[in-house]
Amino acid sequence: MRENTISKLKHQLHQETKVCIIGHKNPDGDALGSTLGLCLFLKEIGITSQVIMPNTFPKFLSWLPGTETVLCYDEDKEICEDKLNHADIVFTLDFNHLGRTGDLGDFLANLNTTFVMIDHHQEPSDYATYRLVDTQKASTCELVHEYITSEYPDTALTADIATCLYTGIMTDTGSFRFPSTTSKTHRIIADLIDAGANNSQIHQNTFDNNAESRLHLLGKALQNLKVIKALNTAYIFLSQKDLNEHGFQKGDTEGFVNYALSLEGIKFAVIFIEHKAENIIKISFRSIGDFDVNTFARTHYQGGGHKNAAGGKSDLDLQPTLQEFERKLITYKQELS
Ligand code: 5GP
Ligand code: MN
Repeated sequence: MRENTISKLKHQLHQETKVCIIGHKNPDGDALGSTLGLCLFLKEIGITSQVIMPNTFPKFLSWLPGTETVLCYDEDKEICEDKLNHADIVFTLDFNHLGRTGDLGDFLANLNTTFVMIDHHQEPSDYATYRLVDTQKASTCELVHEYITSEYPDTALTADIATCLYTGIMTDTGSFRFPSTTSKTHRIIADLIDAGANNSQIHQNTFDNNAESRLHLLGKALQNLKVIKALNTAYIFLSQKDLNEHGFQKGDTEGFVNYALSLEGIKFAVIFIEHKAENIIKISFRSIGDFDVNTFARTHYQGGGHKNAAGGKSDLDLQPTLQEFERKLITYKQELS
């Protein structure tokens, strides 16, 4: 891993600096929480910044403080490009290569600016001048907390900043249960609660606002569960037709893969979701223990992520994707059984 250089950024950050902050495509709680948390913090020290997402965020995160200020590249391309063309500093949060921002990545690759990367994904690429990268961390929000509290110890966190960072840590740790959760994670969480994050309310806002249609979609997903006992693997699939029939909204399938992972003895769980508009099958991989889904996703599905949680895609149709997956899986018999 290359040296972390973010402490050298301070002399370039002052009240006139124009800043943009970017998260990855299909932003999750950590991407949105970290970008908004940093944006709200910069405001506290007198620096105006603009959060730009490649595309919109799911409804279950729309209550987060500051979401009304977010620009989405797929909706407001010209305004986003104008902001970026004038930016002195562009923070990129919660992703490790520009390709993770979709079409926006092509624009960023040609942008003449200073990039700052704050991230926890494996094998980061090296487009950034300043970086704070720690692949051991459970979330980018923990790194943003580390950055602002170490560089600006005299600036108090507001309740809104704390709420954003708490949310990202909560979602990326599976509500503090994944092995990546450490005592340090809990110390940061304690600090955020002291700063005004309302833990119970945040959990409720994020997880207890289900539309009835989402629970029926979950029912369908569980009907489409296939268990391959010999390989300690379980997968779920949802076709575009399944999504359409259950009023699918962005974010509705978040967490579904964990039902497959919760089966007794299962080490490897996958969900395949058909996205007809993009002509791809989006795939989420999860594992328990040593099976490295980051490598699996990189090797076979143009993706990546972390050892126990990764994503990727297939360009085949749904059924051929599932058949191909089962064929590939057999070659991992030793690791999985
Ligand atoms: P999820 O399955 O929840 O979408 O993502 C799990 C993890 O894998 C997250 O850390 C996410 O950033 C990463 N990830 C998801 N999809 C992709 C992808 O297509 N490419 C890469 N490199 N990482 C991904
Ligand atoms: Mn993350």
